[in-house]
Amino acid sequence: MENRRRKPDWLKIRLPEGKTYQNLRGIVKEHKLHTICTSGKCPNMAECWGNGTATFMILGEICTRSCKFCATKSGRPLPADSNEPTRVANSVKLMGLKHCVVTSVDRDDMEDGGSQIWANTIKEVKRVNPNTTMEVLIPDFNGDMDCVETVIQAKPEIISHNLETVRRITPLVRSRAKYDLSLSVLKYIADAGVATKTALMLGLGETKEEIMEAMDDLRACGVEILTLGQYLQPTKKHWEVKEYLHPDFFAEMKKIGLEKGFRVVESAPMVRSSYHAENHIRK
Ligand code: SF4
Ligand code: SF4
Repeated sequence: MENRRRKPDWLKIRLPEGKTYQNLRGIVKEHKLHTICTSGKCPNMAECWGNGTATFMILGEICTRSCKFCATKSGRPLPADSNEPTRVANSVKLMGLKHCVVTSVDRDDMEDGGSQIWANTIKEVKRVNPNTTMEVLIPDFNGDMDCVETVIQAKPEIISHNLETVRRITPLVRSRAKYDLSLSVLKYIADAGVATKTALMLGLGETKEEIMEAMDDLRACGVEILTLGQYLQPTKKHWEVKEYLHPDFFAEMKKIGLEKGFRVVESAPMVRSSYHAENHIRK
């Protein structure tokens, strides 16, 4: 029988190349800019940077949560830096980005969950880069919709919140987060009329029926953009990959997702939530 837990060939990482990539790499190095693309050694860098898209992490590098699939350090974060919005806005400018994705660690230690810094970052990026579109991948703010509203009011083009996995697996791998709470955050965003996006990792042990159930739950909340990618175990201490799913399976999920009414479904083994993000803006 085929070993479904051995890393297959389609997950081999291609080294980034190309002129635009090399150019951006030089700018990032010279100005010591911090992107998730480089720190996370993302395999899609050549493509994303070539298309003028990059992802930044705000509110520090230490998360107050500790999800079993996530490589981010967890513990007590450093105090938030009020200059961060300016730094991100200037990085976007230096890199000449057409589209910028911002994400953050969870800041359960901050009274407003970091939502004000979130809003300031969006506003500052847009002030300094009026032609750059933005997607923000936000935490659940423990379900405090005032915090979500603060982000909405800053007017990013897309707001994402990741459901990460199906209902049954959520309590096994997500720390503190709840499946229904994530759905209610997504519904709040969609009800506000903002393009709403989420991501699921596949290969954690979920069944096809469970994926479809999650798709139905997301559609019921008005989510319009869905990304599906293969989960990869960051270190041996993290949740084990239960299955490497074939690209054909991802293609089938894309077809099903589109039939269920998502406006966009990115589904392939190497898809990450910000992959092709520039194409997800409403026309
Ligand atoms: Fe950066 Fe996201 Fe693209 Fe990876 S998928 S290179 S993290 S923008
Ligand atoms: Fe990682 Fe987000 Fe979980 Fe924090 S809340 S550990 S950043 S997945």
